[in-house]
Amino acid sequence: MFARASLKTTFKKLFFRTYSSTSDYDLVVLGGGPGGYVASIKAAQLGLKVACVEKREKLGGTCLNVGCIPSKSLLHNSYLYHMALHDLKNRGIEVESVRLNLDQMMTAKNSSVNSLTSGIEMLFKKNKVDYIKGVGKLSEGNKLEVKLLESGERVLTSKKILLATGSEVSPFPGGAVEIDEETIVSSTGALALKHVPEKLVVIGGGVIGLELGSVWCRLGADVTVVEFTANIGGVNIDLDISKTFQRMLKKQGITFKLQTKVTRAEKTSKGVHVYMEDAAGGDESTLEANVVLVAVGRRPFSRDLGLEHVGIKTDAQGRVEVNDMFETHCPGIYAIGDLIKGPMLAHKAEEEGIICVEGMLGGSPHIDYNCVPNVIYTHPEVAWVGRTEEQLRQEGIDYKVGKFPFAANSRAKTNDETEGFVKFLSDKKTDQMLGCHVIGTNAGEMINEAVLALQYGASGEDVARVCHAHPTLAEALRESALMAWAGKAINY
Ligand code: FAD
Ligand code: NAD
Repeated sequence: MFARASLKTTFKKLFFRTYSSTSDYDLVVLGGGPGGYVASIKAAQLGLKVACVEKREKLGGTCLNVGCIPSKSLLHNSYLYHMALHDLKNRGIEVESVRLNLDQMMTAKNSSVNSLTSGIEMLFKKNKVDYIKGVGKLSEGNKLEVKLLESGERVLTSKKILLATGSEVSPFPGGAVEIDEETIVSSTGALALKHVPEKLVVIGGGVIGLELGSVWCRLGADVTVVEFTANIGGVNIDLDISKTFQRMLKKQGITFKLQTKVTRAEKTSKGVHVYMEDAAGGDESTLEANVVLVAVGRRPFSRDLGLEHVGIKTDAQGRVEVNDMFETHCPGIYAIGDLIKGPMLAHKAEEEGIICVEGMLGGSPHIDYNCVPNVIYTHPEVAWVGRTEEQLRQEGIDYKVGKFPFAANSRAKTNDETEGFVKFLSDKKTDQMLGCHVIGTNAGEMINEAVLALQYGASGEDVARVCHAHPTLAEALRESALMAWAGKAINY
């Protein structure tokens, strides 16, 4: 194992032996989202001269500005509102005249965003990353032309360039539902509505549709989610979890229309008229809404980057093609995050940013995408890592299941949060852990233990034998591993 200082020196020596021409920078990163800003800091910490070019007014990308952070702020605060209205009384807390102050909720959201985005600017200063505000575009000779936000242009030369331009909202196919960010909104508009809509129709029962549908449902909207497939939660969710999840959200007041495809929407004087048909292509029906949220996916942001000037290729979905080192078809130019293949998740982009930079400096990048966790931040939360039962069956792997309900967990009972369960999947012969799926309060925090276990090749017995603090929700994870390994839990 290298000591940190010698690793830095070795990397730097390797880098300069390979790339010795004179340039403005060792590395220019295009895009200051979770992929780009983390890669910039890591590269600077490894001794490179780094600049990060970002076209928004603030760093942090989609995640901090219009994604993870503002949505989690609204999810958290709308949940507290919902608790105050419907739950606190049962816990012996009497609150009189609970009222929603939506402006204040949005102010709280904005201040979380501002403190985090300005925090990255401070981290850039601390690590000596040059922050260039402007729109970047590749040009011949692997240069980067930057139209500065203030005024003027700069041409940057760099030994290496890292593309981390992320993704954008996928428009509805054929323009049949046109987003205006007021009555027909994308996630960005849904994070900033000025009033609680009486009726909200959500097109798409994926992660965005369920998280933002939950927010507005808790704040009083009548929410209908229209989903093309037979299940909610996206393509990789375990079906057992998906069914339970749908029942729970239905109990909270969300209406689901599954196997139904929205075909178009028309604005009327009162709101929006949404047209749907049976997914099999049958009966047509309509819904009236005051606001429609279009949440049918995101697409990589590979437009207008000048990729054609340097011979970078994209696939059928517009994703930049890279090799195992994250290098594109153009030597010296790399890409990570939502711009390339794989799940569109902030932590995936961050991981890639770090190992891509280490790879540029002589390391051997490796990421096991099977160990990238997924979390849906509704209430209860849904989180998982590794394979689902459906995937294991498809792959012909013989597996064992340990399923422990939160109703039998002491902390969940104490907190009166007993909905959900943990499901632990392991190999029938070897007991090696294959996956873990949680639906319940704090599932998103709990899943990190499962990620660690999966990443280090733990068995059910390994997890079951680890001492867990009591009383904690994580004891349910241990018990599920015990059930998978020994066939029986202690408390169930
Ligand atoms: P981005 O964050 O998209 O950053 C790319 C940056 O590049 C942008 O700031 C953009 O302005 C800049 N850029 C683009 N082109 C140029 C150019 N030519 N010049 C200069 N700059 C440029 N993921 C999670 O893991 N957890 C969550 O809870 C979560 N919640 C989400 C909620 C919502 C509503 C949305 C929309 C997304 C959410 N995501 C979540 C997904 C997450 O935001 C993305 O996966 C993540 O931001 C991708 O990081 P990135 O660095 O690849 O790209
Ligand atoms: P998604 O791909 O998760 O879901 C889109 C859904 O829309 C699919 O289920 C699809 O079947 C459905 N759909 C498409 N066309 C339809 C139509 N005409 N009628 C009815 N249904 C239709 O996409 P998303 O929810 O927009 O999220 C985009 C990305 O953002 C995801 O890849 C996700 O990883 C990321 N994200 C992550 C988080 C998180 O990690 N908590 C939160 C938000 C977003």
